[in-house]
Amino acid sequence: MRIRKITVIAAGLLLLTGCSHTDKRQARTAGQQAALGKKTQAARSPSPPPPRKIDCDRVKCVALTFDDGPGPYTAGLLDTLKKDGVRATFFMLGQNVGSHRDVVRRMALEGHELANHSWSHPQLTSLSSAEVRSQIERTQKVIRDASGGVQPTLMRPPYGATNKRVGRVIGMPLILWSVDTLDWRYRDVARDVRVGTKEPKNGGIILFHDIHKTSVESIPKVVDGLKKRGFTFVTVSELFQGRELKPGTTYSERTAQVTAEPPPYGSPAGPGASSSPAPASPTPSTSANPAPSSPVPASPAPTG
Ligand SMILES: [Zn+2]
Repeated sequence: MRIRKITVIAAGLLLLTGCSHTDKRQARTAGQQAALGKKTQAARSPSPPPPRKIDCDRVKCVALTFDDGPGPYTAGLLDTLKKDGVRATFFMLGQNVGSHRDVVRRMALEGHELANHSWSHPQLTSLSSAEVRSQIERTQKVIRDASGGVQPTLMRPPYGATNKRVGRVIGMPLILWSVDTLDWRYRDVARDVRVGTKEPKNGGIILFHDIHKTSVESIPKVVDGLKKRGFTFVTVSELFQGRELKPGTTYSERTAQVTAEPPPYGSPAGPGASSSPAPASPTPSTSANPAPSSPVPASPAPTG
């Protein structure tokens, strides 16, 4: 817009000073070329790959999730994930995005899921609704801007702390976890590898933090171990494909849904038989207790 305005002014000035018709045409052509250049650049700028269709009712799925970043180790983690062909989900703090914009853009382009973990990691249940809204919206905006337009659709409340009011204000599905590696507490690569490899079950969501060097260092072996156990790595949205995720409801894993399978030919439809997507088994609790493996901390701990 600005270039165009300047072009018009320049063309006007050229006319006033008695310049030839050719000059005016040249000025306009330069403006058009600038606009064309912009368009070509936009067409050439890469966009995220389309979501994959993976049926987690048929293959053994697990979702790696990384919280509290992006940080200084996130780019190295992306290298590992790229090398191993693994897509993960990043629950990011808005306040960390500004200094790692390139990393966030890269995440999007390499097929990872970008998700919201608040702006500054407060316990959302202790904030006013306006403050909760601000934590969410600022983070949505900074991720969108850094990534080239990706709008997160999932949120993980810090410490897993939420309630009905907070869930309503957030207005997105709230994603918790089924395996808490406690990587932030032990900072021990061997332990991270052991827990991260042995504990996940089909449909699980594993919680790591990419702000810790030890956690990032453990990932090549965790990936290797889980691949040997037959897992396919999916983003959280891919994990829940075919299931309905409701805003404000918490989810910590994809559970098996036998009723989602059509009944054998000729048999009567079961009570759960339906053509609509099966519910995604929300975590039956609105307390701050995120998952069975994670007791409620007396004071906020960095888990989640
Ligand atoms: Zn966190």
